[in-house]
This record gives sequence, structure tokens and C-alpha cells, in this order.
Amino acid sequence: MAIINDHYLKLAAGYLFPEISRRVSVFTEANPAIAKEIIRCGIGDVTEPLPAAVIAAMHTAVDELANRATFRGYGPATGYDFVREAIVQGDFRARGIAIAPDEIFVSDGSKPDASAFMEIMATGTPAQGGNRTVVCDPVYPVYVDNNVMQGNTGPAIAGGGYEGLIYLPGTPANGFVPEPPTEPVDMVYLCYPNNPTGAMITRPQLARWVEWALANDALICYDAAYEAYVRDPSLPRSIYEIPGADRCAVEFRSFSKSGGFTGVRAGYTVVPKAVEGRTHSGERVSLHRLWMRRWATCSNGISWPVQCAIAALYTPAGRAQVASLIDFYMENARILREACAAEGLQVWGGEHAPYVWVACPAGMGSWDAFDALLSKARLVVTPGAGFGRHGEGFFRISAFNSRENVIEAGKRLQALR
Ligand SMILES: *Cc1c(COP(=O)(O)O)cnc(C)c1O
Repeated sequence: MAIINDHYLKLAAGYLFPEISRRVSVFTEANPAIAKEIIRCGIGDVTEPLPAAVIAAMHTAVDELANRATFRGYGPATGYDFVREAIVQGDFRARGIAIAPDEIFVSDGSKPDASAFMEIMATGTPAQGGNRTVVCDPVYPVYVDNNVMQGNTGPAIAGGGYEGLIYLPGTPANGFVPEPPTEPVDMVYLCYPNNPTGAMITRPQLARWVEWALANDALICYDAAYEAYVRDPSLPRSIYEIPGADRCAVEFRSFSKSGGFTGVRAGYTVVPKAVEGRTHSGERVSLHRLWMRRWATCSNGISWPVQCAIAALYTPAGRAQVASLIDFYMENARILREACAAEGLQVWGGEHAPYVWVACPAGMGSWDAFDALLSKARLVVTPGAGFGRHGEGFFRISAFNSRENVIEAGKRLQALR
């Protein structure tokens, strides 16, 4: 009989969002008459249609595939040159950052990339020779679950977390931006603007992480999926704005939350040639070399229409249309922040991120707040406990919604009184 990867069986109680869906289904089955009044501010999925420049580029690309003279088959596995050039120009060179087009790996999104990246890293717990890995808590569950699936952790711990991972608490006291650890570590995941807390890291704080990584020979996996939401130009939109980061960091980028590509599927990973890992025997190896090899073997790249859609995001029209999408969601975030504050709730985030992070009223747990908002106000939020032990006592509200729903959601927070 075929043998499975039994690390999957360690995954605690399933992924957060299936549990939310389950509770919403239980509620709607019990209350079918009011099911359509539910406002979903839970999952972080965009709601507005694609920018016009993207639609036009995709239509043209499909027509090209319909014609023998312009038809395209397999392209380069890591993306067409014009796409990688547009990315480098728009996201890096224009900001004074020296990233080369061949350090860009175009993909179907950063969730798959963060997962695939595990393939080029050692597996096993630290005691078995695997990486000592740090995550923030609360955390985007994908990083943790990927490590569990690869066998890099021990079993789940009651109350949240896994043995073998190092958790750095994000709290109101540190503004949800933990300082680097003092113990020896090999790999760390950072995500700013942050999902779920909406917190943003300052340039000096990120510089401390980069200095720490260089001094400790650690690798930073930097998730910048929400960089388009950074409003203040003094805040870093890429880790490569920090000198030396091109020797210690890889960066995951996504078009999901900027161009509204959650359904189109596209992102990219930056792996600078100078970033190294080591073999178990201590020999230093370029991660770029391994990642390149992984792409050559495991992928044939993403579709032609989607690559044309990416390039369209970097045209002047595409940029202006993306900027207005972001403005729309950020106005939603502002409305939600103010609604929370008006209710006397303590609130963070929503200033450089499409998420608002709210403290539950005193004595209320985050699943209690979830259940109260669902049953009394037909409002779905995300309980903070689903993002880790230190998410307990908070909930996340997503600004990805229609204006009408956001205004109504703000009013429904009264149910927590
Ligand atoms: C939405 C999101 C992503 C994007 O994932 P895609 O696979 O590109 O859609 C990545 N990281 C975080 C933290 C996210 O919230």
C-alpha cells in the first residue's frame, strides 16, 4: 500500500477558514431567512473587478493564442523577459534598488511560492538537522502549515502552535512588530504590511532585522503581498530598500491584493544571486541556483494571457487604475477603523494595510466575539486565535468589500456592546 506523508496528520484542526465556513454554514442552515443579510469581512479576498488595462491586455493575449501567426506555446519557466523587465523597472529600479530581471521568478501567486520554497530547504526538525525557524505570532497560517507538512516541526501544542518552531509574540506593546530573537536561528518569516494585524514595520526596525540576519547568517523570507497599501513613502515597500538585504533575504510578491488578481493568479519571488544557504556539511550554496533548478524541473511557467495581464499593471494606465483600487480599499479601512473607535474598541492597522485588528471587549475570547458578531449582527470577521496563541483576544476585519457593506459592517459592531 502507498505510504502517505504522515506530517499532514499533525496539522491542527484544519485551516482557519474552513472552520469559519463551517460555523457560518451552521448559522445559515439554522437561520435560512436571514442568511442573505450576512456580511463577510472574514477571508482576505478582493471584491472589485480587474483594472481596465488588464482586461484589455488579456483579451488581446487570448486573440493572439487564437491565431497561428501569433500563437505561443511553452514560454520561459520563470517568466517572459518583458514581464520580468517591467517588474524590475516598476518595483525596484524606479526605487533605486538593484535587482536583476533574472532574480525575478514569475509564478501563479505567493502562497504557492512560499510553499514551493520549502522544496529547496532542509527538512526535519532542528534536532534532526532541519532549520531553526522563527515565525511571528499572530501569523499568516501558511508559513507554519508548510513547515508542519514538510516535517520541520513536532506535534501541535494544546492552545496553539507546534513544537520545534520559535514564535515571536506580536503584541500591542511592540506594535505587532517583534524584535529579532536572541537565540540562534536559521530562517525567519516576516510579513509587512502584516496579515492579520495590519501592522507596518519602519525602516529602522527592518534594518535591525537585516543586520541581525547578516550577523547570524540567517535567511529572511519576506512576504510583501500588501506593499501596494503602504501610504507613507518613508516606510519600506520592499526589504531590498535596506542595504545588505540582497545577501540575506528572499521576497514574496503577489498581484492578488494590488491588481485584484486573486482569481487571475499571479505573483513573483525575488531570489537575489548573493543569498546563500548551506549544506549539512557546511558548504555554502546559492539559493538562486537551487530555485532556478527547481523551476526548470517543476514548472512550465504561467499562462500567456496572465503574463500580459502582469505587464499591463506596470503601464501608466495600469498603475493609475491599481492606485484607485487601493484608494478604494483604504477608504474602507478608514471607515472600519473609525467605526471601531466610535464603539470604544481598541483598534490597530488599517493605515498601511487592508486589515483592521481589533481587541475584543474585556473578558471576551476571539471565537466568542466571532460567534457574537455572527449570531447577533450577521457579520463575519476572523477570530485572532486562528492566527496563533497571541491572536487570542483580537479579531481581524477585512476592508475588502463594497462601500455599502463596509458602512453597514461598521454599524453592526454595536452587537459587541
Ligand atoms: C493574500 C496573501 C498572499 C497572496 O497569496 P497569492 O497566492 O499570491 O494569492 C500572500 N501572503 C499573505 C500574507 C496574504 O495575505
